[in-house]
Formats: sequence, structure tokens, C-alpha cells
Amino acid sequence: MKTEFTSQLWKFARGDGQRKAFEEWLYSQNELENFLGEELYLKLISCDFSNKEEVWKVRQSLAESIDSHRQCECPKIKNLDFIPMGFDGDDERFFANLTEILTYGKKKWWLYISKCNRCQTVWMVGQDDIYYDDYFLNRISDDQLDKAKNGKWPELFLTQERLLAIGRDLSTAPMYVDADSPSLKWVVENLIKERSTISVGEIATLLGISSEHAKWLVEEIQKQA
Ligand SMILES: [Zn+2]
Repeated sequence: MKTEFTSQLWKFARGDGQRKAFEEWLYSQNELENFLGEELYLKLISCDFSNKEEVWKVRQSLAESIDSHRQCECPKIKNLDFIPMGFDGDDERFFANLTEILTYGKKKWWLYISKCNRCQTVWMVGQDDIYYDDYFLNRISDDQLDKAKNGKWPELFLTQERLLAIGRDLSTAPMYVDADSPSLKWVVENLIKERSTISVGEIATLLGISSEHAKWLVEEIQKQA
């Protein structure tokens, strides 16, 4: 029961899942008041779930309250999320409990699957240490893991283009001082290799650079080819 509570409450606290499904779950729990204490329980059931700011506040109070039950970093991380590399030890804390169980191999060097030794969550990891300097994370099911073991990986991080698109959505593009940066060129080269019809505009958007800059990089790469 306790595990079911914490797993549902964390899901809501980190902003995953449908609000409506959470509300339905919430009102059908008889033991929850004992678990949370009267004050927090009342705050939760009297929350106006259509009010974003109120929901945000309740999520914060809830996370603070159930944080002491947490044995690993997983509950705080959304189903699709990222952790910056080398920022405040966040990545070290997260990966300390993880064991790598499957890698895609050389062809897609950024892609692997790890499992948490504490809570058994399975994470697909897209490691971008070339451009965004982030670990992109996707909580996957045992079924998805089995399929990946048989060579059918989830598509979310399967190409550099997809991974960069997620980076663009979730993270912040680096500010390159050096327009001619080798890693920037390398990323563009890989994008073209993956999909030769990719446009300059698409490259610019994925990398958060100007179209002029992207155009210049593409021309430089074509010159070398
Ligand atoms: Zn965990």
C-alpha cells in the first residue's frame, strides 16, 4: 500500500500522468490521510486542480513531504526528462544507483538502457556529450526492455536528430563562441549522414543556431567531402 501511495504521489508531484486520473485515484483512497497527515491531505483534496499555480504549490508541498521515503533519484524524474552533465552532482547521484543492462552498440554510441538497483525503474538513456551535454532519460516498461533486447528499440532516442529535437525542447542550446567548433561540425555531419534531405532550417532549429551559421557549416562540410 505504501509503495502504491508513494508511486502515485510522486507521479503527480513530478508532473507526469493525467491530472484527471490522479484526481480519481485521490478521491478513492481511504488510507491516504493517515499516510500524509491531516494538513497535507486536506490541502491535496481541497486543491482546485484547474488552477495551475495552486497545483504547482501542492506538488511542491507533496514532494517535500514524501521526499524522506525516497531511496534513489528516480521518483523525481519525469517519464521523459534530462539531467545536465556535471551540474551540482545531479548526474552522479542519479547514476550511482543505476546499472547498465543493455547498449545499442557502436552504431548508436549514445544509446543504452540502465536499471535502478533501488526501485527497479528501467531507464533508456540518450547520452549527448557532444552538443547539449545532457543525459536524456525515458522511463520504459519491462516490455519495451524485452523488445530492445530483441533488437527493437523504442524510437525516441534512436537517431541523433530525434535526440537533438528532445534537447531543443527540454534543455538549453549551448552558446558557441567558436562558430567553427569541431564538435558543432561533427554534429551537423552526423545529421546529414542520417538524413541527407535535412534542410538548413531544420539543422538551425535543432542546434539553436542561426540559419546563416547552419548554412555556412553545411557548405564547409560539403567542401571537405
Ligand atoms: Zn530508482
